[in-house]
Amino acid sequence: MTIKNNPADDVISIIVPCFNEESVLPAFYSAVSDAASSIEGAVCEFLFIDDGSSDLQHFTEKDERVRFLTFSRNFGKEAAMYAGLQNASGDYCVFMDADLQHPPALLKNMYHAVKYEGYDCCAGLREDRTGENPIRTFLSRSFYHLIGNACHLDMGDGKGDFRMMNRAMTDSILELKEYNRYMKGIFSFVGFDTKWIEFHNVQRAAGNSKWNFSKLFAYAMEGMFSFSTAPIVWIGNIGTAIMISSILMTLFGLLVHVTSMFHLVCLILFLSGLQMLFVAILGQYTTKDYMESKQRPI
Ligand code: UDP
Ligand code: MG
Repeated sequence: MTIKNNPADDVISIIVPCFNEESVLPAFYSAVSDAASSIEGAVCEFLFIDDGSSDLQHFTEKDERVRFLTFSRNFGKEAAMYAGLQNASGDYCVFMDADLQHPPALLKNMYHAVKYEGYDCCAGLREDRTGENPIRTFLSRSFYHLIGNACHLDMGDGKGDFRMMNRAMTDSILELKEYNRYMKGIFSFVGFDTKWIEFHNVQRAAGNSKWNFSKLFAYAMEGMFSFSTAPIVWIGNIGTAIMISSILMTLFGLLVHVTSMFHLVCLILFLSGLQMLFVAILGQYTTKDYMESKQRPI
């Protein structure tokens, strides 16, 4: 079966992870169909990944461009994105959230960038967080600052999943078969020339965010531990600092009169620091093994 009218057309696979998005999907489908019809030289297929929704109905009239993949339960957005890529047949693949927070109008520019401007990927860069809960904004910004220092990968605030990639980049991502996935890290890890297109934050068209605080926290930790061994180094540094402080305190205690309790505290501090250092050294070996177990391509 082909969805092309003209054999020379490219196929763009639009991958949409959906978790209880019944209220917004018809609007999404109509807005993205309109945007897709304005792209010359390409046709779009829709891959809706139903990530264990309780309410998702097949909302379209028979449209051969549309496919549904249904999970047996909620496995999370990362699993949905991976399943989407595995099943996408397009020359280009693009991830879009179902809630219309990713402006469909950008699809045309993205296609132009990957088809004619020599980029492998064209990604949306959300330049503000207007309308978002301020606590979430603060926590997200802090996290991206932290992970930026820890990972040496390009995972800044606003650089999300909304992006169109060519086949080479898509296949490279599929080569990373690790179970604990953090797509923002994976995009950056595989490399490739990426063009960034800025867009303003848009409110969700309907429904609520599917991420509560604990889910977001777990996701943030996933990102940190999937791509960085820096926390182990930090522990080692803290242990070393504690040891040095305890030695300085002991020297100070030898110069002025202090109680024997003071020396005991110094000794306990020294041993605690030493233990942290040993844990960090052990951690270095363990994390090497952990990273090897992911069997990422060399
Ligand atoms: N999503 C999913 N599985 C989940 C959580 C979210 O497939 O377990 C989908 C959701 O349906 C949406 C996209 O991921 O299409 C982004 O979710 P959401 O809009 O809730 O995230 P936010 O914009 O608040 O970060
Ligand atoms: Mg959203």
